Amino acid sequence: MSLDEFGIIRRHFVRNAAVRDDVVAGIGDDAALLRVPAGHELVVCTDTLVAGRHFPATTAPAAIGYKALAVNLSDLAAMGADPAWVTLALTLPGYDEAWMSEFMQGFFRLADSCNVALVGGDTTRGPLSITVQAQGFVPSGQALMRHGAQPGDHVYVTGTLGDAGLALYLAEQADAELRQRLDYPEPRLQAGRALRGLASSAIDISDGLLADLGHLLEADRLGASIETDLLPRSAAFENAIRQAGADAESLAQELPLSAGDDYEICFTARAADEAAVMATFAPLDCGCTRIGVIEQQPGIRCLRANAIAYLPAFTGYNHFGDPDG
Ligand SMILES: [Mg+2]
Repeated sequence: MSLDEFGIIRRHFVRNAAVRDDVVAGIGDDAALLRVPAGHELVVCTDTLVAGRHFPATTAPAAIGYKALAVNLSDLAAMGADPAWVTLALTLPGYDEAWMSEFMQGFFRLADSCNVALVGGDTTRGPLSITVQAQGFVPSGQALMRHGAQPGDHVYVTGTLGDAGLALYLAEQADAELRQRLDYPEPRLQAGRALRGLASSAIDISDGLLADLGHLLEADRLGASIETDLLPRSAAFENAIRQAGADAESLAQELPLSAGDDYEICFTARAADEAAVMATFAPLDCGCTRIGVIEQQPGIRCLRANAIAYLPAFTGYNHFGDPDG
Protein backbone atom coordinates (compact mmCIF):
# COMPACT_ATOMS: atom_id res chain seq x y z
CA MET A 1 0.00 0.00 0.00
CA SER A 2 1.24 3.47 -0.68
CA LEU A 3 -0.12 6.83 0.28
CA ASP A 4 0.70 10.21 -1.21
CA GLU A 5 2.19 12.98 0.90
CA PHE A 6 -1.15 14.50 1.81
CA GLY A 7 -2.58 11.08 2.60
CA ILE A 8 0.28 10.41 5.03
CA ILE A 9 -0.12 13.79 6.68
CA ARG A 10 -3.91 13.44 6.96
CA ARG A 11 -3.68 9.91 8.28
CA HIS A 12 -0.84 10.31 10.77
CA PHE A 13 -0.30 13.98 11.64
CA VAL A 14 -3.82 15.34 12.04
CA ARG A 15 -5.61 14.52 15.24
CA ASN A 16 -7.76 16.18 17.80
CA ALA A 17 -5.81 15.62 21.01
CA ALA A 18 -3.57 18.31 22.53
CA VAL A 19 -5.71 21.13 21.20
CA ARG A 20 -4.35 24.45 22.31
CA ASP A 21 -6.40 27.62 22.12
CA ASP A 22 -3.35 29.56 20.90
CA VAL A 23 -3.46 27.58 17.61
CA VAL A 24 -5.59 29.79 15.34
CA ALA A 25 -4.97 27.45 12.37
CA GLY A 26 -2.94 24.24 12.44
CA ILE A 27 -2.38 21.57 9.77
CA GLY A 28 -4.50 22.09 6.66
CA ASP A 29 -3.70 25.63 5.54
CA ASP A 30 -0.57 26.91 3.78
CA ALA A 31 1.00 27.69 7.13
CA ALA A 32 0.08 27.52 10.79
CA LEU A 33 -1.28 30.59 12.52
CA LEU A 34 -0.26 30.84 16.15
CA ARG A 35 -0.84 33.33 18.94
CA VAL A 36 2.10 34.24 21.19
CA PRO A 37 0.85 35.43 24.61
CA ALA A 38 1.34 39.12 25.40
CA GLY A 39 4.51 39.89 27.35
CA HIS A 40 6.34 36.83 26.01
CA GLU A 41 9.08 36.14 23.50
CA LEU A 42 8.92 33.35 20.91
CA VAL A 43 11.65 30.70 21.30
CA VAL A 44 12.36 28.59 18.18
CA CYS A 45 14.75 25.68 17.63
CA THR A 46 15.22 22.90 15.09
CA ASP A 47 17.13 19.64 14.98
CA THR A 48 17.54 16.86 12.41
CA LEU A 49 18.05 13.19 13.23
CA VAL A 50 19.62 11.02 10.52
CA ALA A 51 19.42 7.21 10.68
CA GLY A 52 22.79 5.62 11.41
CA ARG A 53 24.28 8.92 12.56
CA HIS A 54 22.03 10.09 15.38
CA PHE A 55 20.42 6.77 16.23
CA PRO A 56 21.33 3.14 15.50
CA ALA A 57 19.38 1.72 12.55
CA THR A 58 17.90 -0.89 14.92
CA THR A 59 16.17 1.75 17.12
CA ALA A 60 12.45 1.14 17.64
CA PRO A 61 10.28 3.52 15.54
CA ALA A 62 8.48 4.76 18.68
CA ALA A 63 11.82 5.72 20.21
CA ILE A 64 12.87 7.60 17.06
CA GLY A 65 9.59 9.54 17.08
CA TYR A 66 9.90 10.31 20.77
CA LYS A 67 13.55 11.35 20.58
CA ALA A 68 13.13 13.54 17.51
CA LEU A 69 10.80 15.69 19.59
CA ALA A 70 12.69 15.27 22.89
CA VAL A 71 15.96 16.71 21.59
CA ASN A 72 14.13 19.86 20.49
CA LEU A 73 12.18 20.21 23.73
CA SER A 74 15.52 19.88 25.51
CA ASP A 75 16.75 22.97 23.66
CA LEU A 76 13.59 24.85 24.70
CA ALA A 77 14.12 23.67 28.28
CA ALA A 78 17.68 25.02 28.23
CA MET A 79 16.22 28.43 27.27
CA GLY A 80 13.72 28.30 30.15
CA ALA A 81 10.84 28.19 27.64
CA ASP A 82 7.36 26.67 27.82
CA PRO A 83 6.96 24.46 24.73
CA ALA A 84 3.83 25.05 22.66
CA TRP A 85 3.98 24.03 19.00
CA VAL A 86 5.97 21.79 16.73
CA THR A 87 6.36 21.04 13.01
CA LEU A 88 7.63 17.73 11.64
CA ALA A 89 9.39 17.09 8.30
CA LEU A 90 9.94 13.42 7.48
CA THR A 91 12.11 11.92 4.77
CA LEU A 92 11.14 8.26 4.37
CA PRO A 93 12.70 5.54 2.21
CA GLY A 94 9.16 4.30 1.53
CA TYR A 95 5.75 4.26 3.16
CA ASP A 96 5.40 1.61 5.86
CA GLU A 97 2.09 1.85 7.70
CA ALA A 98 3.24 -0.02 10.82
CA TRP A 99 6.48 1.99 11.08
CA MET A 100 4.62 5.31 10.70
CA SER A 101 2.02 4.39 13.32
CA GLU A 102 4.66 3.43 15.86
CA PHE A 103 6.80 6.47 15.06
CA MET A 104 3.86 8.84 15.55
CA GLN A 105 2.80 7.02 18.71
CA GLY A 106 6.22 7.75 20.25
CA PHE A 107 6.12 11.33 18.98
CA PHE A 108 2.64 12.06 20.33
CA ARG A 109 3.31 10.33 23.63
CA LEU A 110 5.83 13.06 24.45
CA ALA A 111 3.90 15.85 22.70
CA ASP A 112 0.76 15.08 24.74
CA SER A 113 2.63 14.85 28.02
CA CYS A 114 4.13 18.32 27.40
CA ASN A 115 0.95 19.87 25.91
CA VAL A 116 2.65 20.46 22.57
CA ALA A 117 0.52 20.68 19.40
CA LEU A 118 1.74 19.45 16.01
CA VAL A 119 0.82 22.37 13.74
CA GLY A 120 2.54 21.56 10.45
CA GLY A 121 4.24 18.79 8.55
CA ASP A 122 5.91 17.68 5.37
CA THR A 123 6.93 14.31 3.98
CA THR A 124 9.29 13.41 1.17
CA ARG A 125 11.05 10.30 -0.12
CA GLY A 126 14.73 9.55 0.58
CA PRO A 127 17.05 8.07 3.25
CA LEU A 128 15.37 8.18 6.69
CA SER A 129 15.76 11.58 8.29
CA ILE A 130 13.56 13.51 10.69
CA THR A 131 13.52 17.26 11.18
CA VAL A 132 11.54 18.82 13.98
CA GLN A 133 11.11 22.51 14.63
CA ALA A 134 9.79 23.35 18.08
CA GLN A 135 8.43 26.65 19.32
CA GLY A 136 7.69 27.87 22.79
CA PHE A 137 7.65 31.09 24.72
CA VAL A 138 9.23 32.68 27.71
CA PRO A 139 8.28 35.82 29.66
CA SER A 140 10.06 38.73 27.96
CA GLY A 141 13.62 39.18 29.16
CA GLN A 142 13.68 35.95 31.20
CA ALA A 143 15.15 33.44 28.72
CA LEU A 144 18.17 31.46 29.91
CA MET A 145 21.14 32.10 27.62
CA ARG A 146 24.59 30.60 27.09
CA HIS A 147 26.16 33.89 28.11
CA GLY A 148 25.87 35.48 31.53
CA ALA A 149 28.21 33.40 33.71
CA GLN A 150 30.81 35.19 35.83
CA PRO A 151 34.00 33.99 37.53
CA GLY A 152 33.07 32.46 40.88
CA ASP A 153 29.66 31.20 39.69
CA HIS A 154 28.98 27.57 40.51
CA VAL A 155 28.50 25.07 37.69
CA TYR A 156 25.64 22.55 38.02
CA VAL A 157 24.10 19.73 36.02
CA THR A 158 20.64 18.23 36.33
CA GLY A 159 20.04 14.46 36.57
CA THR A 160 22.86 12.03 35.83
CA LEU A 161 25.52 11.90 33.12
CA GLY A 162 26.90 9.10 30.96
CA ASP A 163 23.87 6.79 30.92
CA ALA A 164 23.06 7.22 27.22
CA GLY A 165 26.74 6.94 26.30
CA LEU A 166 27.06 3.72 28.27
CA ALA A 167 23.91 2.32 26.61
CA LEU A 168 25.47 3.02 23.21
CA TYR A 169 28.78 1.49 24.28
CA LEU A 170 27.16 -1.66 25.67
CA ALA A 171 24.66 -1.92 22.77
CA GLU A 172 22.66 -5.15 23.24
CA GLN A 173 24.26 -5.70 26.65
CA ALA A 174 22.79 -2.43 28.04
CA ASP A 175 20.07 -2.97 30.64
CA ALA A 176 16.56 -1.54 30.24
CA GLU A 177 17.22 1.51 32.40
CA LEU A 178 20.27 2.65 30.42
CA ARG A 179 18.47 1.89 27.15
CA GLN A 180 15.54 4.02 28.33
CA ARG A 181 17.90 6.94 28.96
CA LEU A 182 19.27 6.66 25.41
CA ASP A 183 15.98 6.14 23.59
CA TYR A 184 13.55 8.17 25.71
CA PRO A 185 15.46 11.12 27.21
CA GLU A 186 13.31 13.37 29.38
CA PRO A 187 13.57 17.03 28.39
CA ARG A 188 14.20 19.00 31.59
CA LEU A 189 11.38 21.47 31.03
CA GLN A 190 10.43 21.89 34.69
CA ALA A 191 14.04 22.53 35.60
CA GLY A 192 14.42 25.10 32.81
CA ARG A 193 11.32 26.99 33.95
CA ALA A 194 12.42 26.89 37.57
CA LEU A 195 15.81 28.35 36.66
CA ARG A 196 14.41 31.57 35.16
CA GLY A 197 15.80 34.46 37.15
CA LEU A 198 18.15 32.12 39.06
CA ALA A 199 20.61 30.61 36.55
CA SER A 200 23.21 33.03 35.17
CA SER A 201 23.64 30.87 32.02
CA ALA A 202 22.45 27.51 30.71
CA ILE A 203 22.85 24.97 27.90
CA ASP A 204 21.52 21.45 27.34
CA ILE A 205 23.97 18.56 27.14
CA SER A 206 23.52 16.97 23.73
CA ASP A 207 27.14 16.45 22.64
CA GLY A 208 28.75 15.77 26.04
CA LEU A 209 29.44 17.88 29.12
CA LEU A 210 32.89 19.10 28.03
CA ALA A 211 31.68 20.08 24.55
CA ASP A 212 28.51 21.83 25.72
CA LEU A 213 30.03 23.48 28.79
CA GLY A 214 32.75 24.59 26.35
CA HIS A 215 30.11 26.40 24.24
CA LEU A 216 28.72 28.06 27.34
CA LEU A 217 32.19 29.25 28.38
CA GLU A 218 33.01 30.50 24.88
CA ALA A 219 30.02 32.83 25.09
CA ASP A 220 31.79 34.87 27.80
CA ARG A 221 35.42 33.84 27.09
CA LEU A 222 35.66 32.21 30.50
CA GLY A 223 36.92 28.88 31.84
CA ALA A 224 35.91 26.39 34.52
CA SER A 225 37.25 23.79 36.90
CA ILE A 226 35.22 20.58 37.12
CA GLU A 227 35.61 18.00 39.88
CA THR A 228 35.12 14.77 37.99
CA ASP A 229 34.38 12.74 41.13
CA LEU A 230 31.33 14.95 41.70
CA LEU A 231 29.76 14.19 38.32
CA PRO A 232 26.38 12.55 39.02
CA ARG A 233 26.24 8.90 37.90
CA SER A 234 23.08 6.79 38.11
CA ALA A 235 22.79 3.50 40.00
CA ALA A 236 22.25 1.78 36.63
CA PHE A 237 25.48 3.36 35.39
CA GLU A 238 27.49 2.28 38.46
CA ASN A 239 26.10 -1.29 38.25
CA ALA A 240 26.88 -1.66 34.57
CA ILE A 241 30.36 -0.17 35.03
CA ARG A 242 31.20 -2.75 37.70
CA GLN A 243 30.65 -5.43 35.05
CA ALA A 244 32.70 -3.68 32.37
CA GLY A 245 35.97 -5.32 33.48
CA ALA A 246 39.24 -3.81 32.37
CA ASP A 247 37.63 -0.69 30.82
CA ALA A 248 35.57 0.16 33.90
CA GLU A 249 37.75 2.92 35.35
CA SER A 250 38.24 4.83 32.11
CA LEU A 251 34.57 4.46 31.12
CA ALA A 252 33.44 5.72 34.53
CA GLN A 253 35.63 8.81 34.05
CA GLU A 254 35.16 9.47 30.34
CA LEU A 255 31.47 8.86 29.68
CA PRO A 256 29.99 11.44 32.11
CA LEU A 257 32.44 14.02 30.72
CA SER A 258 32.36 13.30 27.03
CA ALA A 259 29.43 11.12 25.94
CA GLY A 260 26.49 12.83 24.28
CA ASP A 261 22.75 12.21 24.32
CA ASP A 262 22.13 12.83 28.02
CA TYR A 263 19.91 15.89 27.48
CA GLU A 264 20.50 17.17 30.97
CA ILE A 265 20.91 20.91 31.56
CA CYS A 266 24.27 22.38 32.51
CA PHE A 267 23.83 25.77 34.17
CA THR A 268 25.64 28.31 36.28
CA ALA A 269 24.41 30.41 39.20
CA ARG A 270 25.98 32.92 41.57
CA ALA A 271 27.74 31.24 44.49
CA ALA A 272 25.46 33.18 46.88
CA ASP A 273 22.44 31.49 45.27
CA GLU A 274 23.52 27.93 46.07
CA ALA A 275 20.83 27.43 48.74
CA ALA A 276 18.20 28.85 46.37
CA VAL A 277 19.30 26.44 43.63
CA MET A 278 19.07 23.46 45.98
CA ALA A 279 15.65 24.60 47.27
CA THR A 280 14.43 25.01 43.68
CA PHE A 281 15.39 21.46 42.80
CA ALA A 282 14.14 19.82 46.01
CA PRO A 283 10.62 19.22 44.60
CA LEU A 284 11.85 18.22 41.08
CA ASP A 285 12.46 14.55 40.18
CA CYS A 286 15.67 15.13 38.25
CA GLY A 287 17.80 16.63 41.04
CA CYS A 288 20.85 18.80 40.47
CA THR A 289 24.51 18.54 41.40
CA ARG A 290 27.18 21.22 41.80
CA ILE A 291 30.18 20.02 39.77
CA GLY A 292 32.57 22.96 39.60
CA VAL A 293 33.20 26.66 39.38
CA ILE A 294 33.57 29.30 36.66
CA GLU A 295 37.05 30.85 36.37
CA GLN A 296 38.60 33.73 34.46
CA GLN A 297 41.22 31.56 32.73
CA PRO A 298 39.74 30.02 29.55
CA GLY A 299 39.58 26.23 29.15
CA ILE A 300 38.09 23.43 31.22
CA ARG A 301 40.25 21.92 33.95
CA CYS A 302 39.14 18.48 35.14
CA LEU A 303 40.23 17.70 38.68
CA ARG A 304 39.95 14.52 40.67
CA ALA A 305 39.44 14.38 44.43
CA ASN A 306 43.17 13.81 44.95
CA ALA A 307 43.63 17.12 43.06
CA ILE A 308 45.64 15.47 40.29
CA ALA A 309 44.63 17.06 37.01
CA TYR A 310 42.80 14.62 34.80
CA LEU A 311 43.16 14.92 31.02
CA PRO A 312 40.10 13.63 29.21
CA ALA A 313 40.83 11.44 26.19
CA PHE A 314 38.11 13.01 24.09
CA THR A 315 36.02 16.12 24.44
CA GLY A 316 32.63 15.40 22.92
CA TYR A 317 31.03 15.02 19.57
CA ASN A 318 31.65 17.65 16.93
CA HIS A 319 30.00 16.90 13.60
CA PHE A 320 32.46 18.86 11.49
CA GLY A 321 35.66 18.54 13.48
CA ASP A 322 37.09 21.32 15.56
CA PRO A 323 39.18 23.80 13.57
CA ASP A 324 40.48 25.37 16.80
CA GLY A 325 41.77 22.01 17.99
MG1 LIG B 1 21.26 22.57 22.71
